Amino acid sequence: MEDSLLPPSLEPASVAGNLRDERGVPAAAGPEAAAVLHAAQRFAAFAAHHGATVCGPALGEPRVEDGHPVQYFRNLVLELGSDGQIAPRPLGSMALARQEAAPTATELRFPQWLDLRAELPTHVTLRYPLRPLAQIRYLILHHSGASARFDARQIAAEHVGVNGWPGMGYHFVIGPDGLIEQCQDLGVSSHHVAQFNPVAVGIALLGDLRLGAPTGRQMDAAADLLSCLCQQLGLPRQAIRGHGEMVSTDCPGPAFLAEWRSRLFQMVGDRLRIPAAGPAGGQSG
Ligand SMILES: [Zn+2]
Repeated sequence: MEDSLLPPSLEPASVAGNLRDERGVPAAAGPEAAAVLHAAQRFAAFAAHHGATVCGPALGEPRVEDGHPVQYFRNLVLELGSDGQIAPRPLGSMALARQEAAPTATELRFPQWLDLRAELPTHVTLRYPLRPLAQIRYLILHHSGASARFDARQIAAEHVGVNGWPGMGYHFVIGPDGLIEQCQDLGVSSHHVAQFNPVAVGIALLGDLRLGAPTGRQMDAAADLLSCLCQQLGLPRQAIRGHGEMVSTDCPGPAFLAEWRSRLFQMVGDRLRIPAAGPAGGQSG
């Protein structure tokens, strides 16, 4: 019955003619084809030896990936290593390597937002330090502590002109109408939460939240942005903190802990499809 593991492609006559490289281009005949033909026979022997439960049926033709002959089976992928040994591909280590590779800014996708990064004032000579995105651990909420009409450009002008900072301190601002504006690359370690700057993204809600909670649209936009950031930076919901939870300040206002933090967590959880917790929980999807 293990004969059924051997696909027609492993018949010596068809292997060399069906070889494909990673882009699907037929591999040249010659020494390489002969080497892969040899590998194909060894894949078949491995499959015959280890049986259907381990390998499952072969899928498609043998091919060359990353310079190694490989054969896909339903349950695993075999690879002829540079040491000449046939072995299952180290898929676990490959997955880990992918996970650990920090996403680049261009790979990140956010909800509708306005990109102000090239437009905001910056210091003539000073520059913020850069960081790998994998370093980010916290998503910090602020309020602007001023009229909501005091906008991202005015805040950036103050951070640069008055504070003497290299540029805008916040990575994002969210207006009362729900408009999200990106003000810094996530890879920029800007000023907004003291010693936590290198590991934190700053998100400022426009308005003076000492006077009350954010608007409904501001909450929706914040939940959209935060859930995207959690997903794309691989962070748990607990990464979301108020400025005042990190250092001594009343930012983003007393109503944060008293009222809208739990609501915001719930909204982010809904977007991330985390089941509701707590005594009243149990009905969110
Ligand atoms: Zn703050």
